[in-house]
Amino acid sequence: MPTDIEYVSPAERRGLQDERLRDTVEHAYENVPFYREAMDDAGVHPDDVDGVADIDKLPTTTKEDFRDTYPDGLFAVPREDVARVHASSGTTGKPKIVGYTESDLDVWAEVADRSLRAAGVTDTDTVQNAYGYGLFTGGLGIHMGAERLGAELIPIGGGNTDRQLDFLEDLGSDVLTCTPSYALYLAERAADRGVALSDLPLSTVVFGAEPCTDPMRDAIEERLDVDGVDIYGLSEIIGPGVAVECVEAKDGLHVWDDRFYPEVVDPDTGEVLPEGEEGELVLTTLSKEALPVLRYRTGDMTTLTSGECDCGRTTVRMDNVTGRTDDLLIVRGVNCYPSEIEAVALDTEGVAPHYRIDLRRDGELDRIEITVERADDFDGDPEALHDTLLSRLSSVLSFTPDDLTVAPPGGIDRQATGKVKRVFDHR
Ligand SMILES: [Zn+2]
Repeated sequence: MPTDIEYVSPAERRGLQDERLRDTVEHAYENVPFYREAMDDAGVHPDDVDGVADIDKLPTTTKEDFRDTYPDGLFAVPREDVARVHASSGTTGKPKIVGYTESDLDVWAEVADRSLRAAGVTDTDTVQNAYGYGLFTGGLGIHMGAERLGAELIPIGGGNTDRQLDFLEDLGSDVLTCTPSYALYLAERAADRGVALSDLPLSTVVFGAEPCTDPMRDAIEERLDVDGVDIYGLSEIIGPGVAVECVEAKDGLHVWDDRFYPEVVDPDTGEVLPEGEEGELVLTTLSKEALPVLRYRTGDMTTLTSGECDCGRTTVRMDNVTGRTDDLLIVRGVNCYPSEIEAVALDTEGVAPHYRIDLRRDGELDRIEITVERADDFDGDPEALHDTLLSRLSSVLSFTPDDLTVAPPGGIDRQATGKVKRVFDHR
């Protein structure tokens, strides 16, 4: 059983992590000129790394390093040994190309399988996989995991909302996998069609690929009448299946730390932070062949905790990622994350889980305009709702939004496919 490792004592897992890290470092040093040079520059040799206690001696890897070595400069095996490539699109420039050997694909299927199991999916379930297929790792990652698990799989892919709803009804899907924003979009379209999702067999939504705050999860669970479980992953490390919440506790995501070693660092200085402090997640692959990655700066802000979970698993857990260092908004010199605005808005009664943020420049001054949407069933005074929101936002953000609009239900444009865009920076 591949899942036994999730329950052993951390000390027992440590031996495996140490051994795998030593192999990974040696593999990267021997076969990737980029890492040999970076380690030589840092004055560290593979012999200096005995185990994960020495991990902070190693140089970090950034997304720019992927771009600088485009397309395959970080590959550690000859191209004939690569069984598949994926690519992660950036907003600018060239994509990050990632490669997998047969063995890497096997590991990926394993961790995706483990993630679905932890989310409560069983081999008798029907999984409707609404992640995009293709170069994006979401679709095929979940696909392999569901197949390895032995579930019945519907590879429907992203979009095509009418058919998604048909299949939820006609095929009785138990599990839906998609982004959190798409889950909410489906719920709205279902309501338009008069489909009561609570009458359908659907019991679990495994969502990922976008940050999701607790109020957003609550909205998904309520509107679709499901358990909403957050899965985390990124192409540079493997794809979906790096970490997942367990359905029992939903108290942080279990990082499969026998395969991926997590650290949290100060995003400005790169200094490793102690457990419990928020910072940027850094991940090291412990068993990748084609693309071993040392200390990847993910850009995702989170906190790590250890200690046994209610589900009995003993892995390190990470908080739900609610912000990325790239998403940080600087408004008149004050830092804030869109997720902070989301959390306040969605936690206010009468507000629907849709919002947008517009940033403009007015002369020398930044302007931030926030638009939220009234819930369908809100029957109070819209002006009072506006004032409540404005005062709550002002106290959390340490500045007052220049403009706050409470739009009527459906007043904010929906986006049916891909990662949802909520921040529009016109500056
Ligand atoms: Zn757990």
